[in-house]
Amino acid sequence: MLKQEIMGVHFDNVTMDEALEIGCRLMEEPGSHYVVTPNSEIVYACREQPALTGVLNGASLVLPDGIGVVYASRILKTPLKQKVAGIEFGTAMLERAAQRGWTVYLLGSKPGVAEEAGRRLCQQFPGLRIVGTADGYFKEDGPVVEKIAAVHPDLLFVCLGAPKQEYWMEKNAEATGAKLLLGLGGSLDIYSGSSQRAPDIWVKLGLEWAYRLVKEPWRIKRQTNLPKFLFSAIRLRISGNKSPSQQ
Ligand code: UDP
Repeated sequence: MLKQEIMGVHFDNVTMDEALEIGCRLMEEPGSHYVVTPNSEIVYACREQPALTGVLNGASLVLPDGIGVVYASRILKTPLKQKVAGIEFGTAMLERAAQRGWTVYLLGSKPGVAEEAGRRLCQQFPGLRIVGTADGYFKEDGPVVEKIAAVHPDLLFVCLGAPKQEYWMEKNAEATGAKLLLGLGGSLDIYSGSSQRAPDIWVKLGLEWAYRLVKEPWRIKRQTNLPKFLFSAIRLRISGNKSPSQQ
């Protein structure tokens, strides 16, 4: 599968259907695999955290979640086919889990959120087997990893926010015994109804970030990284598209 490098991060250049095909194939392979869905904030954060680049590139599937990454890929003349929103990928995998009998574990968010998300998802996808939930505010990884390993789920949602969830997956994937781990930020908040995704029209116009800013104005500091990210893509393009480490 073709990879496109955006500022050191090797994205899979796939459509949603292709991403799902790979996700399902990974479920059949031995060992544990993890999926990351970096947006521009996270790619930008890699500039100051080289270890994070390694963690992202160590994933079996790297999906461009966010229109900023797609714009940067065009600026850099390494265009990605499309944005592949992590939450949409996760929902489509849950649909397949219900059809194929895969077991699912939901980890992350504030206490009670994963349980409510599980209840609602079971209504949405009859037959879905949620085998456990845990909140994302634990002090040590050990007890949580043991709890998950005891039920060795097929699919594990890791929703601890970025980049915490990416580091967590890289460190603990094998020990959980899960076949596929998905790092999906605030998805459980959305599945549980505690927060809302932008209406379709905002998403289609590539303005999901703006909707989020209106709803969660305290994200302004993080979001100022979007224009900085696009400017650095333009600078890279002018300097001959070398990744930051080559400059
Ligand atoms: N979260 C968590 N543990 C933590 C920090 C955050 O479970 O130690 C959860 C938080 O409750 C929220 C999600 O991680 O549900 C982060 O959501 P956000 O939309 O900010 O995701 P991001 O954009 O950071 O991926």
